Amino acid sequence: MVQLKCPVCGQEHIESKVEFCLNCSYLLTTYSPNLLEYPEIQQRENKRLLLAREAWNKYSNLQKQLETANEEESLLKQQLQAASEDNQPSLNNSSVEQYLSKISSNIQYLPNMLTILQQIHENLVSQSLGNGLVSAYNINPHSLSEQAITVYETEYSFKQRLLGKKIQPILESDSRGNYWIITEGNDEYLVPKANIKINEHNYLATISTFFNCLGYNSNSSNTFTLVKPAKVYKIGEQWELIKIGELQF
Ligand SMILES: [Zn+2]
Repeated sequence: MVQLKCPVCGQEHIESKVEFCLNCSYLLTTYSPNLLEYPEIQQRENKRLLLAREAWNKYSNLQKQLETANEEESLLKQQLQAASEDNQPSLNNSSVEQYLSKISSNIQYLPNMLTILQQIHENLVSQSLGNGLVSAYNINPHSLSEQAITVYETEYSFKQRLLGKKIQPILESDSRGNYWIITEGNDEYLVPKANIKINEHNYLATISTFFNCLGYNSNSSNTFTLVKPAKVYKIGEQWELIKIGELQF
């Protein structure tokens, strides 16, 4: 059994098949060794680690603050209880109660902040994953071919869109397809497949639906840079486009 130590929070995992850190949810698996040979990807990985550590520190500090605040609240409640039992004339109960209600509302707000922070942390992890994919794609899209599923929009989805129906495009596995689906962590991304031939026909039919095409005109050459992959969501054997991507021509 391999003992794995999370590089972000230090949590140790005994199982070798743990994908995410059980404590801070950092993605523990990394790119395949041949992808890590690219210095750009290695830099991205280092950045991902640094940002995740930063977010984790903020999160831990907030959690400590929340604990302190909870302790303070229960202490104040005890004092208030004791004061009302003793009926001490020196203590003004109504002002203490006012103060206490103010503190309680602050405390109620803290868990929300924690949730937001956790979301930031998760977004950060998934975003930098997407960025790693972008670098790899722009350096050499063929390097991703082994982990890609070739897909095409379903005929039904295509026809519905032609009829002007406002539906989210649906894609399915199809070896003749012009697009790839690549899984990174928990997310699935859509990119044009390597050596896609973009012409006016398929531009109007699909690409402009899946990607915001910056600087495209009908004379544009086939070369583009992937700015942002599109995001898809798997439903059964098909994928639904949930967020369009961006290409720069
Ligand atoms: Zn961790």
